[in-house]
Amino acid sequence: MASNISRTAGRHFLQIPGPSPLPDRILRAMDTPIIDHRGPEFAKLAKRCLEGIKTIFKTTNPVIIYTATGTGAWEAALVNTLSPGDRVLMVETGQFATLWKKMAEKLGLKPEFIATDWRIGADPAAVEEHLRKDKAREIKAVCVLHNETSTGCLSPVAEIRKAIDRAGHSALFMVDTISSLASTDYRHDEWGVDVTVGGAQKGLMLPPGMSFNAVSDKALAAAKNSKLPKSFWSWEDMLNMNKIGFFPYTPATQMLHGLSASIDMLHEEGLDNVFARHARLAEATRRAVRAWGLEIMCRDPKYYSPTITAVMMPEGHDADAFRNLALETFNISYGMSFAKFAGKMFRIGHLGDINDGYLVGALAATEMALALAGVPHKKGGVQAAMDYIVSAHASPARAAAE
Ligand code: PLP
Repeated sequence: MASNISRTAGRHFLQIPGPSPLPDRILRAMDTPIIDHRGPEFAKLAKRCLEGIKTIFKTTNPVIIYTATGTGAWEAALVNTLSPGDRVLMVETGQFATLWKKMAEKLGLKPEFIATDWRIGADPAAVEEHLRKDKAREIKAVCVLHNETSTGCLSPVAEIRKAIDRAGHSALFMVDTISSLASTDYRHDEWGVDVTVGGAQKGLMLPPGMSFNAVSDKALAAAKNSKLPKSFWSWEDMLNMNKIGFFPYTPATQMLHGLSASIDMLHEEGLDNVFARHARLAEATRRAVRAWGLEIMCRDPKYYSPTITAVMMPEGHDADAFRNLALETFNISYGMSFAKFAGKMFRIGHLGDINDGYLVGALAATEMALALAGVPHKKGGVQAAMDYIVSAHASPARAAAE
């Protein structure tokens, strides 16, 4: 609806699946004078971050922090461990898996892609079957997304590890946790992951522009023989400088102040409580979508995402037009749709620094937008979400089992 109002009142509902809303505490933590990045105060800050971030990935090994978006950490994972022409196994869970695969091709790797219809996560049995056929053990890495941001499907990382072991395969295991880290349980060490790729702008509640590689001993050993060219991404230079609290180049100091606050906030809430909150908000969102009579894109509940719910639009209704109307009228943004699903769905992000009331507000805006856009649906989605949230607080165990 055309409007001549140039100011929008109130806070924006940022329901894209990241960047997620920035907590005021993190903003304040970043609002400090620039310090000397070769001085003692910086070294203290860097060491606090480098130690603290391990507790988020659940690893005792080093985590490399890059001044780069998640795409950079994808590249770092590949170029530090692999050599030109190496075969890598990837799973086509959606748009982001496809982008990582295209990157692998551009780097001179030979990705093999297990296809899906983009409506499920990575199936451990399919990974096992593919690896069993590789008798010569030529596949050097298995790369999966823990959470496929473009579809709202979560993959069972611990199960995929077991599948690789059952196949008796020695490939490195690389996992992208950009839209799952600090929102749902993740255990780099316990789950036997060799490189975990993470990003700042989602569960860590930071602005975009920082990303991570958590590494195993096996990955560090592979790095010694890897032949792909690397300079900025080199783990070796980073690890050497990190030991003394510095970086090989001018680091993003303000982001590190923010990261330090983010790690504190996650532990103050308690990681398990953070995960329970995300699970509750995700289930409440799915209940709203079902009550509206709309379809959740993820077609198998075992792959439901704790951070994103993608909603299929009914035939004849354009998701982009709906998103535009919702933005103009109710000041809410959703994630867009990609590739073969362009215009056919929209994604509700429910991750980061959000609580029950905030989510209910966003779902109310969504229900109003559906009505205003004339999208066929039933009323009562917000009520269903509220009922679930109340029951989850009254009896968390029962709600989790439902
Ligand atoms: N992987 C996943 C799962 C993502 O969601 C994204 C971005 O949203 C990326 C990789 C790429 O990260 P970035 O856009 O920070 O480069």
